[in-house]
Amino acid sequence: MNKSYDTIIIGAGIIGCCLAFELSKRGYKTLNVEKLGASGQGSTSNSCAIIRLHYSTPDGVAMAREGYYYWLKWPEYLEVEDTAGMARYVNTGCLVIKTPLNKNLKNVMASLDNMGVEYAELDTAGIKAKMPMLDLQKFFPAKLLDDPDFGHPTGDTIAGAIFVPESGYITDPQLSTHNAQVAAQAQGGEFLFNAEVADILIKDGRAAGVKLKDGSELNAPVVVNVSGPHSYLINRMAGVEEGMKIKTRALRQEVCHVPAPEGVDYEKVGTIISDGDIGCYSRPEVGNHVLIGSEDPECDEREWVDPDNFDRSFTDQWSTQAMREAQRISGLPIPNQPQGVVDLYDVADDWIPIYDKSDLPGFYMAVGTSGNQYKNAPVAGVLMAELIEKVEAGHDHDSNPVKFVMQHTGRECNLGFFSRLREINPDSSFSVIG
Ligand SMILES: Cc1cc2nc3c(=O)[nH]c(=O)nc-3n(C[C@H](O)[C@H](O)[C@H](O)COP(=O)(O)OP(=O)(O)OC[C@H]3O[C@@H](n4cnc5c(N)ncnc54)[C@H](O)[C@@H]3O)c2cc1C
Repeated sequence: MNKSYDTIIIGAGIIGCCLAFELSKRGYKTLNVEKLGASGQGSTSNSCAIIRLHYSTPDGVAMAREGYYYWLKWPEYLEVEDTAGMARYVNTGCLVIKTPLNKNLKNVMASLDNMGVEYAELDTAGIKAKMPMLDLQKFFPAKLLDDPDFGHPTGDTIAGAIFVPESGYITDPQLSTHNAQVAAQAQGGEFLFNAEVADILIKDGRAAGVKLKDGSELNAPVVVNVSGPHSYLINRMAGVEEGMKIKTRALRQEVCHVPAPEGVDYEKVGTIISDGDIGCYSRPEVGNHVLIGSEDPECDEREWVDPDNFDRSFTDQWSTQAMREAQRISGLPIPNQPQGVVDLYDVADDWIPIYDKSDLPGFYMAVGTSGNQYKNAPVAGVLMAELIEKVEAGHDHDSNPVKFVMQHTGRECNLGFFSRLREINPDSSFSVIG
C-alpha cells in the first residue's frame, strides 16, 4: 500500500464511503482509515435508515429531497454491482403527527411547499382511514414511566397529521455502506481497516496526514474527519475544536424492535410515523416487527457518553419507548425480552450537521450528523467534495461560503448553512428531526 495520498478520510461509515466515492471520481487518490474490521460497522450499522423529507428548516428539506433521489437510483448512482448485493429502498410513506412542539407542522409544511414536496393534510378520520390500528388520543407531552399521569390522555384527540407519500427506509444500512466502498474502490479509492487514528500530523501550519495507534504514519495534504460519534476526539487531536462555535458530543440511544399487533401485517400496512405527541418515531421492521426510536422528549434525560466506554445493554428507556408507542398502536405487544439496538448519535449543539473546513488548513469535517444524516450521506459526499476542491483552490469559504447547484433538485445549496462558525439555528427542532 502507498503511504502517501491526496486525501485521508478518517472513518468508513456511510458518509466516509460516499465521500471517498465522490473524491475518487474527481481524480483524488483517497484512503479511508477505519479502526473497525469493515465499512459501516460503526453507528451506520445500527441506523434506522429512514429516508424522509420533512425537516424543520427549508435547507433541511432541500437536502433530504436531494438525498431521496440518490437512494431511488442507488445502483445507477454508484455505477457498480456489489457481489454482496445492493441495498434496497422500501417506500412506505411517512405520517407526521401535529403537536404544539412542531407548531402543528406550520414550518414543516411551508418548507415542503417551498420544495414542491407532495403531502396530504389529514384530520383524525383521514388518519384512521389510512391506519385503522392507531389510537388517536392525545398524550402530549410525553412522560416518564413512573409519572402517575403516564398513559392518561391529555385531551380528546391529536390535532391531525400530514402524510408524505415519498418516504421509506433502506433495508440494510451496512450493506449500503459496503456498496459505496466498492464503488469508491472501482474509482481507485483505497481502504485500510483495523487501523485507529491516534493523532493528526501537522506540517508547516497545515494538516499533513495521520499517525496510527501502531505508530505508523500516513501522509496526505487533506485530512477529513468523518468519524461519527468520535468526531470531537478527532477534532481535539487536530486542535480545531476551540475554533468552532458549534461543537459535537456523543449521545446514547436505544431503539426497540417489538412484534406487530396480532393479525396486522405491519410490513405491508405500516408506515413511518413521526409522533411528537408520544415522543417516538417508528417504522415497519423485517419479521413483522415495529421499530421504535425516540424523538428525545424533554422529560428524558440526555445521556452524553464517552464513545469508547458506554453501556450497550437496554435500560428502562427501552420499556418507556415501547410503552409510549403502545399508546398509539392498539394491541402492540411488549415482550419481556427487549430486542433492538443501542448506539450513539454524533450530536451538534443545534442538531444540524457540520459540513465544513476547520481553522487548520487542509483539515475538514463532516460531523454532528445528529441521528438524521444517513439519508443525506450521498449529498454530504458531493458537498464535501465541492468544498474541498474549492477551498484547496484558494476559496475563502468562511467569509464567502461555497455554493453549488444540487444535481437532482436544481436547488442552490449554500454550505454556509452547515458552518462550524454559525450561530445556533433557532428554527431547528433541537431533536433527531433536525
Ligand atoms: C440508532 C440510530 C438510528 C438512526 N436512524 C437514522 C434514520 O432513521 N435516518 C437517518 O437519516 N439517519 C439516522 N441515523 C443517523 C445516521 O445513521 C448517521 O448520521 C450516519 O450513519 C453517520 O455516518 P458516518 O459515516 O458519519 O458515521 P459512522 O457510521 O459512525 O462512521 C464513523 C466511523 O469512524 C470510525 N472511527 C472513529 N474513530 C476512529 C479513529 N480514531 N480511527 C479510525 N476510525 C475511526 C468508526 O469506527 C466508524 O466506523 C441514526 C443513527 C443511530 C445511531
